[in-house]
Amino acid sequence: MGFLAGKRALIVGLATERSIAHGIAQAMRREGAELAFTYLERLKDRVVDLAGELGSKITMPMNVESDAEITHAFEHLRKQWDSVDIIVHSVAFAPREALAGGFVASTSRDSFRVAHEISSYSLTALAREGRALMAGRNGALLTLSYLGAVRSIPAYNVMGLAKASLEANVRSLAADLGPAGIRVNGISAGPIKTLSAAGIAGFRKMLAHVAHTAPLRRNVTLEDVGNAAAFLCSDLAAGITGEILYVDAGYSTVGMSFGEDATAE
Ligand code: NAD
Repeated sequence: MGFLAGKRALIVGLATERSIAHGIAQAMRREGAELAFTYLERLKDRVVDLAGELGSKITMPMNVESDAEITHAFEHLRKQWDSVDIIVHSVAFAPREALAGGFVASTSRDSFRVAHEISSYSLTALAREGRALMAGRNGALLTLSYLGAVRSIPAYNVMGLAKASLEANVRSLAADLGPAGIRVNGISAGPIKTLSAAGIAGFRKMLAHVAHTAPLRRNVTLEDVGNAAAFLCSDLAAGITGEILYVDAGYSTVGMSFGEDATAE
């Protein structure tokens, strides 16, 4: 029996089979969880198909920019399930022009607002709608962050600020929902080639740099992140909340690296 047997997980942020949400859904399904998914309207057909492959018939639209869509999605879910154990938030967005060039030149008032609203505020909104369904079930809320929250990264620009907000969001939600038994954590994943990542200028250079520099000398996989997510949302992690877990092949721990020649004179 898997370590998520009997758990129900709502996954927000599935777009393609390369999505981090897909890696998480696969790991959670393998460990015995039942799954439900939301989708952006233009991705509906693809998400419904992927959900079917993961044994789920529960899919509903949710654009996190709309309070009404968030409320409707949870109303729909409540008709299928009387409770939820896990909510995965794997959503981020910034306008393409904000993710290229220098930080000051590319960060407009509007791109700042959009990035923070979709990538950080949406976690608070999901917690607000989801908390009643999670009550009394040792629920777990999980989000996805990136090193740009705490370090400057070329072209990541305003998304780094949004991730810093998201990580603070994790700590505030953990404090607020902890007394109700709900845990809130984040995974700071190393770079993975996904639809969203393709929008970041120079992304391939990031992958090459990590593979050269990280202690494990490789990039992380969807499976690496999925397995960590399944653990963090399971009762095996019952004592962990308010935490950002790095799943990045160790990259964030390195102060200096000479790659393969690390010890050569
Ligand atoms: P992805 O493109 O597969 O997933 C992003 C998801 O965000 C998509 O499903 C998209 O539909 C959703 N989304 C965007 N705007 C939305 C909106 N207004 N309402 C609802 N959903 C919306 O890319 P991914 O890389 O799997 O991204 C998932 C998460 O992982 C993001 O938070 C991203 O920042 C984070 N992350 C990604 C990497 C990476 O290198 N890929 C690294 C660390 C963290």
